[in-house]
Amino acid sequence: MQTNFNLTLTKQSDNKNILINLLSQLIDFRIKIIVTINLLIALFVMNYTTTLYAESAFAKFKLGELDFYCIQDAPGEMNNAIFAGTDSEILKKHTQNGKSPSSISTFVIKHNKKSILIDTGNGNQLLENLAAAGIKTDEITDILLTHTHPDHVSGLFNRTKPNFPNAAIWITANELTFWKTSNNALVEKTIKAYGELKIIIPDEKTSIVLPEIIAIDTIGHTPGHVTFLVSSKGQKLFIAGDLLHSSSLQFPHPEISSRYDNDPKQAANIRKKLLTRTVNEKWIFVSAHIPFPGFIHLEKDGEGFKIIPIKLLP
Ligand SMILES: [Zn+2]
Repeated sequence: MQTNFNLTLTKQSDNKNILINLLSQLIDFRIKIIVTINLLIALFVMNYTTTLYAESAFAKFKLGELDFYCIQDAPGEMNNAIFAGTDSEILKKHTQNGKSPSSISTFVIKHNKKSILIDTGNGNQLLENLAAAGIKTDEITDILLTHTHPDHVSGLFNRTKPNFPNAAIWITANELTFWKTSNNALVEKTIKAYGELKIIIPDEKTSIVLPEIIAIDTIGHTPGHVTFLVSSKGQKLFIAGDLLHSSSLQFPHPEISSRYDNDPKQAANIRKKLLTRTVNEKWIFVSAHIPFPGFIHLEKDGEGFKIIPIKLLP
């Protein structure tokens, strides 16, 4: 199953990044080679692969009538320590040097005067990469939070100042209750800066902000974790939040939960269920921690799943 999409993949090239690139060439030569090879492959066969994790960037494509962006907050790696208790042979097979490639990614949907940001990252390079994508912080009308772990909400503020002064914040009722118990000071600060929080109803019949967006209940990672399905002109894209943390390990082994999962068993059940729906309903899949930009399809592979790259058009 391969589908063609128009996609713009852009890398930042300011002075800071040039310096970072020079330094990283010294310490990360192998990754640079992989990235270069993949860019060359992308130029000639337009076939996206998921090894571009060493770069900070944004990516953009058209989902039906909507403009959809992946805006990276930071590249990164997931350490196997978060999968403590997992069979060492499985870890060895699906990870390298005790780690797997990852990212902190956020997403923007633009349509009909709405600019919707999904999660806000850790506040690393989100603002720079939004600017590089031509998206102004004051044009963000709504922020949908999948959940309230720091790597998803810290980008709401630059110290005391809200980064998105005109945005309304959306959250599920269960997650708001959880957030109040885990960091009530930040809840109060957020309400003071952004106004009363709007409540996401994840019943798949109620649209969120746009008729094209619905929320899907995916509790387990946190008590109010929610994911989003975006549909336009027959194309469907699933924004999976923190349904998984290592694509190389948890696609083949969706039964493995990480120590970040509040309820590991519930998280594993909902992971299997939603990955199966992704395959059956032919959704494009993106999530916060799969390597950037991570627009992929999935296919069933034994008890697990495997990535089917999405073929790109120039
Ligand atoms: Zn996360």
